[in-house]
Amino acid sequence: MSNRRSFIKKTSIGAIGAILAPELASAKFSRKNKYSIKKLPIVISTWKHGLDANEEAFKLINNGFDAIDAVEAGVYVTEADPECTSVGYGGWPDRDGHVTLDACIMDHTGNCGSVSFLQDIKHPISVARKVMDNTPHVMLSGEGALQFALKNGFQKEDLLTDKAKEKWEEWLKDSKYKPIINVENHDTIGLLAIDLKGNISGACTTSGLAWKMHGRVGDSPIIGAGMFVDNEVGGCCATGVGEAVMKTLGSFLIVELMRQGASPQEACEEGISRIVKNQNYKNMQIGYLAINKEGEHGSYSVQAGFDYALHQNGLNKMINASSFIR
Ligand code: ASP
Repeated sequence: MSNRRSFIKKTSIGAIGAILAPELASAKFSRKNKYSIKKLPIVISTWKHGLDANEEAFKLINNGFDAIDAVEAGVYVTEADPECTSVGYGGWPDRDGHVTLDACIMDHTGNCGSVSFLQDIKHPISVARKVMDNTPHVMLSGEGALQFALKNGFQKEDLLTDKAKEKWEEWLKDSKYKPIINVENHDTIGLLAIDLKGNISGACTTSGLAWKMHGRVGDSPIIGAGMFVDNEVGGCCATGVGEAVMKTLGSFLIVELMRQGASPQEACEEGISRIVKNQNYKNMQIGYLAINKEGEHGSYSVQAGFDYALHQNGLNKMINASSFIR
């Protein structure tokens, strides 16, 4: 077994050991990176809807805004898009026909906010931002999150579009709960950005898995699971079956692996290896995106078909991630 493999085996058993011993860990990574472009600023986000979100976020960064404003404005575009069936307005509902939303946001100082199981509010990311800016808490959930949003000037809106309602009624005919791999590129948006000052922030927002149980909350609003940033190191965001991401605290894990010396690519691959090691992964998709402070990025998924949008070096383009199962 190579040094790197044996290190990874050890970290898989005792990630905490690796986290406590950075000098030991950094010697073991080869720092291989398929994507060695190191250009800042950078905006990166999951799936095809990421193109429009990146465009908006990049515009703000170019105009001198901080990364935290850019990430919020970027995913705001996706939340408002009725064609995007797993984020915000137009998202497919749970099995009882309710659109329930999860979102989180984190800035370069380590400050963060999140909302979960929020209904009838079109822009959960902005509510999460207000939780971060205006409360002593990190997460508000359900009715409490809704009341907080209303007190802060957000309006109640029906988020179930006719199209989404039709899909739900179709689903009700045999009511089978089985997340579909890649859901044809409609999925959670996770977006990471580094601004002109070199500061990093991230945002993640979703209507979660379609036909989930009422009350189910996924990885997306959980800081460290669906998204995590650390201004000394980089950031990571996740998409796919949230339960698998939560069980391994994927985004935090990947940022910590980068701190130990892993490249973004190596860290994403190790994040996926923690999932496939213990979980029945054959029928699920999970994808990770990570960037480091130099502007290098990495991506990896369980199944083929995960793609993402990268805005760097004056270009905003889609890239296919490599995957564990090809
Ligand atoms: N990660 C999201 C969740 O489990 C779903 C997704 O990415 O589509 O709620």
